[in-house]
Amino acid sequence: MAELRVIIAGAGGRMGAANIRALVNHPGVVLHAALDRPGSSVLGRDAGTLAGLEALGVPVVDSLDTALPGADAIIDFTAPAVSVTLAQRAADTGLIHVIGTTGCTPEDDAAIAAAAKAGARIVKSGNFSLGMAVLSNLVEQAAAALADYDIEIVEMHHSRKVDAPSGSALILGEAAARGRAVSLEEKSVRVRDGHTGPREAGTIGFATLRGGTVVGDHSVIFAGPGERLELGHRAEDRSIFANGALRSALWARDQAPGLYTIADVLGLTQSSRTSS
Ligand code: NAD
Repeated sequence: MAELRVIIAGAGGRMGAANIRALVNHPGVVLHAALDRPGSSVLGRDAGTLAGLEALGVPVVDSLDTALPGADAIIDFTAPAVSVTLAQRAADTGLIHVIGTTGCTPEDDAAIAAAAKAGARIVKSGNFSLGMAVLSNLVEQAAAALADYDIEIVEMHHSRKVDAPSGSALILGEAAARGRAVSLEEKSVRVRDGHTGPREAGTIGFATLRGGTVVGDHSVIFAGPGERLELGHRAEDRSIFANGALRSALWARDQAPGLYTIADVLGLTQSSRTSS
């Protein structure tokens, strides 16, 4: 099979560099173009040296129109508005679109779903690691089995992260809500401050910590009478997300247009098609 020609969007970012490194070391794929925002200081720089590798002869550009001819897929870890625009372009052009961007609003997600309906092949996940996909399934099971236990989700990320709770914390919240057959939107408690009163039974709480260079820590605590079950995941290196995104792009080549998640890619799909 021909090599998959991939554009990396957000090439100048933390995940952009990880995506370039993963791509260069992976058989069957080739770096077709590197994209960053207009005005970025990385424009014109070589994508390889930017990622701490040898020069690859691929300069970073700021226009999808320049990057697009001949491309098969785009791996996009940027910002919500960018991902929505790229999804619409993917629907128009047949480009495979892998979206790692988090912090999308319900309106952003609706626009991305509409692009998938309009013919785009999109794989979107708030966390592309294998461990997190398995953890989501475990959380769903535990939430169902421990039906009366209080569920609290705790996450910590580096100080530069701009959205909260993390996309991964929301994936875990969705998994817990599925296990309880409730809506996360109706049951989640995102903030506690001041005189909150006692905890409302059946809610799913979130706590967000930010600091240092933490790649991503998540714990789901099931607190019951006299015991606590804790399920957790620690990301030690961004390569786990980059490898999952790359695997998703290769997998999507054989799929019909639609909106998929990493759980679909890994064959773990139960009812997780709504996770993002
Ligand atoms: P970052 O700020 O380091 O990088 C974002 C990059 O996108 C920057 O280089 C920025 O200039 C670029 N960008 C902005 N507008 C653009 C445009 N119009 N076209 C092309 N590039 C553009 O952030 P990061 O830490 O790399 O994270 C990026 C996103 O990925 C965040 O939403 C983060 O939460 C998410 N993330 C997801 C996963 C996952 O597994 N899904 C893992 C880690 C991070």
